[in-house]
Amino acid sequence: MSHTVEILSVGTELLLGNIANTDAQMLSQGLSELGLNVFWHTVVGDNLQRAKEAVALAKKRADIIITTGGLGPTCDDLTKNVLAEAFGKKLVFDEPSAQRICAYFQRTGRVMTDNNLQQALLPEGCTILENDWGTAPGCAFQAEGVHVIMLPGPPSECRPMFLYRARPYLMSLSEGVIASHTIKLFGIGESTMEAQLRNQMNAMSNPTLAPYAKEGECELRVTAKAATDAEAQALLRPTVQQVTELFGDKVYGVDVPSLEHVVIHGCKEKGLTLGCAESCTGGLIAKRLTDVPGASSAFRGGIVSYTNEIKKQVLGVPDELLVQFGAVSSETAKAMAEGARKVLGCDIALSSTGVAGPSRDDRNNEVGTMFVAIATPEGTCVHALHLGARPMRERLRTQTASHAFDLARRYLSGLDYEN
Ligand code: ATP
Repeated sequence: MSHTVEILSVGTELLLGNIANTDAQMLSQGLSELGLNVFWHTVVGDNLQRAKEAVALAKKRADIIITTGGLGPTCDDLTKNVLAEAFGKKLVFDEPSAQRICAYFQRTGRVMTDNNLQQALLPEGCTILENDWGTAPGCAFQAEGVHVIMLPGPPSECRPMFLYRARPYLMSLSEGVIASHTIKLFGIGESTMEAQLRNQMNAMSNPTLAPYAKEGECELRVTAKAATDAEAQALLRPTVQQVTELFGDKVYGVDVPSLEHVVIHGCKEKGLTLGCAESCTGGLIAKRLTDVPGASSAFRGGIVSYTNEIKKQVLGVPDELLVQFGAVSSETAKAMAEGARKVLGCDIALSSTGVAGPSRDDRNNEVGTMFVAIATPEGTCVHALHLGARPMRERLRTQTASHAFDLARRYLSGLDYEN
C-alpha cells in the first residue's frame, strides 16, 4: 500500500509571514526520499478550534500526519492536546521524559520553570522520540489506521528529530526508496539546457530528469525510485554520467552546495589562498565565500573599494587609469584584482566593478555592465559581462559574484577561463 502524508505545521508566526515554513520543506524532501507521497502541507495558527478542524481533515485524507511545532511549554503549544483528543487518547506523564528535560536544563545551565514539565505529558501508548537537541520530546503513535508523528518546531530540533527519530520509524512503512542527484551548471541558460534534453526528458520515466533555474544558474535533478538505495543508485549512475558529459565544463559539480564551495575546496586542495576586491558587489563575494564552513583556510580577506579614493589608496589603482577608462572598465577590474593580490598577499584575487542600477548609467556603460577579473601567479584575466538592465540590483550583484566564482573555479580546475 502506498502512503499519503500530510504535514501539519502549527504556529501563528507562520501565518503572519514572520517565518518561512522551512520545516515543511525539509520534511517534504526527506519524505520523498523515503518514497512517501506528501499530498498536503497545512499551516494552522495557535488556535484550538482551527487546529482541531485541521486535524479532523488531515485524519480523513492522509494515513500519515506529521506535525511540527506547538510542543513547547507555553499555553499556546496545543499540538499534543489536539492530536491526542482527535484520536481518543489521554495525555499521560512520562517520568523518563521529565528527567531528560531536567537534565537538559542542567546541562545547558538554564533555569527550568514548572511549565517545562508539561512537555513530559505524552499521548498514552505512544513511541517517545527523544529530543537530544532541545527540551520537547516528539512522539509517534498509530490509531484508527493513521500514523501520527509530532516533531518540535525549531528547525535546529526538527531536522535532527526527523533524521534520527522519525525517519527510522517511517522507513519501515515506505515501499522503496527515492534517491536523487543534482547536477549543477553555470554559464548556460535554462532554455538552452532544456532544448538539448527535451526529447530525452520526455522519454524517461525512471530515472526522471527535472531542470531548475536559480539565480543565473541551472540545476538538473535526476531522481530514481527502486526497492533499495543501491538499486536506485545503479539507475541514476548512467544518466548522471551522460548529462555530465553532455554539458562538459559547464557542470561545476554534482551534489555540491554552491559555486563558492567548489572554489574554496579547489583552493584548499591546491594549497592556494584567495582574496577579493569588490566594487559593485559591495562585499557579496567575500560574504558568499565566508558562508562556506572552513573558508578561513583558503580565504584571506576582501576589500570593498566602492569609491575611487579607496580603489586608489588601498588597492593602488592608478589615478590616470580611472580618469582615462573610468571605474567601470576592464582596466580598473584588472588593476583592482592585481592590487588585491598584492595587498592581501594571496595567490588568487577576484575583483568586480560594474553598474548595478537601477537607474544610473556610468559613462557609456549601461546598467548591467559588469567586469570581473582574476589575478593569479600566471597573470590576470578580465571578463566583461552584459547582464541586461532588467534583473533587479540584487540579482545583478549575485550573478556578478557567481561569474567571478566561475572564473576561479575554471582556473582551479585547469579549464579554459580566458575566453
Ligand atoms: P518550543 O519548545 O521552542 O516552544 P515548539 O515545538 O513548541 O518549540 P513552536 O513554539 O511552535 O515550537 O516554534 C518555536 C520556533 O520554531 C518558532 O518561533 C520558529 O522560529 C520555529 N518554527 C516553528 N515552526 C516552524 C516551521 N514550520 N518552519 C520553520 N521554523 C519554525
